[in-house]
Amino acid sequence: MAIPKPLYETVRQRAQFRCEYCHYPELLSSAPLSIDHIQPQSLGGSDELDNLALACRRCNERRYNFTTEIDPETNIDFPLFNPRQQK
Ligand SMILES: [Zn+2]
Repeated sequence: MAIPKPLYETVRQRAQFRCEYCHYPELLSSAPLSIDHIQPQSLGGSDELDNLALACRRCNERRYNFTTEIDPETNIDFPLFNPRQQK
């Protein structure tokens, strides 16, 4: 389901119009940045503001519905960056 426009604008402003993962500015993007669900909807993530992050297409597609990633050096599964819990 699409994010309501007022909520989308709140997420954009909170993120200062930058991707919350790589900080790419929307100003330089050819398309408006999209909304990423930090906890994917497919895994029960909600449309609550705290679960939403502004993301460029590259970051959004890279995260897909993953919440963890395996470190290639240590083989340890670790959580992906969470802009609500990490700075
Ligand atoms: Zn990005």
